[in-house]
Amino acid sequence: MKKSGFLSLIYTTLVCLVLQAGYLPADCQSGYRRLPKAQFNTYSSGAPSSGSSVGGPSRLSPSAPGIQSTPGLHITKGESRTAQNYADPYNPGEEKLNMQWVRWPREKMPLLIWISPGLELPKMPFDQLQETRVEQVYKMFASGYPLDQLPVAKGWSQDANYAVASGIEKWRVFQQEGLLSFGFTNNPYDAHVVVFFTDNFQGTTGPGGIIVGANTCAQLFTPDQLVDPRFKQKPVVMEFSMSVNHEPGRLEGAAAHEFGHALGIKAHSPYREDLMYVDRVVNDLSEGDKATLRLLYRAKTPYLM
Ligand SMILES: [Zn+2]
Repeated sequence: MKKSGFLSLIYTTLVCLVLQAGYLPADCQSGYRRLPKAQFNTYSSGAPSSGSSVGGPSRLSPSAPGIQSTPGLHITKGESRTAQNYADPYNPGEEKLNMQWVRWPREKMPLLIWISPGLELPKMPFDQLQETRVEQVYKMFASGYPLDQLPVAKGWSQDANYAVASGIEKWRVFQQEGLLSFGFTNNPYDAHVVVFFTDNFQGTTGPGGIIVGANTCAQLFTPDQLVDPRFKQKPVVMEFSMSVNHEPGRLEGAAAHEFGHALGIKAHSPYREDLMYVDRVVNDLSEGDKATLRLLYRAKTPYLM
């Protein structure tokens, strides 16, 4: 938590690790069949852009590189779901707030997501992201920073954006259930969630270093702050490592997981079978993930995004 005069700002950061040799389920490419309503190759530094869509279904390769299934290879500890608890929710609370719950209020929907064309934010040591990233991006946007001056992350290609969008689309089921709604925008300045890329998170690689595949930073509000004009909406910032998520299937799963955080599932699931497990090994929402989201979005939460 960061204090700034009488304005108390709360930030949250989710560091998402990946298994280097996790397994992916056989149907991990199925998300590609459901195409996102997204146009993401254009942006402007001022007025909303009316850029055109690129590519289409034909651009999405149905044949990702062969994925080796190595079930049973779990590097970190985790619990396994059973026939009895396979659909039980887990606690989605924010650890920094004593596990209190947070989600988007209905008034802010549909949530708008902007996936940058491979742009990389200024590098900074990973442990500094938590306190500074949201504020930094907010200030860049507010000052009209020319986004086209940001470099494109090494290892990024347009396919990465389809993979990210496809991962986010896995949460669309809850729009059909009336719990939330979201869509993609070409205008970063309108977006509630912005997506950037990096070749590597600084300070997280090397011998003995942890493996960070993605990171999501967000600001949280109390209900009082939400109606206080001094509190400005700041975008949730998602960043993906292209060196870790070099396969489209892996990036798609990482994006699905990160969007779960962006929606307010702040804690990780203790179950390996869940998308929101800390060392995610699956690419799709489990019944437990779905039950958790439903619980969260049917609840009145003390904190909001
Ligand atoms: Zn995570």
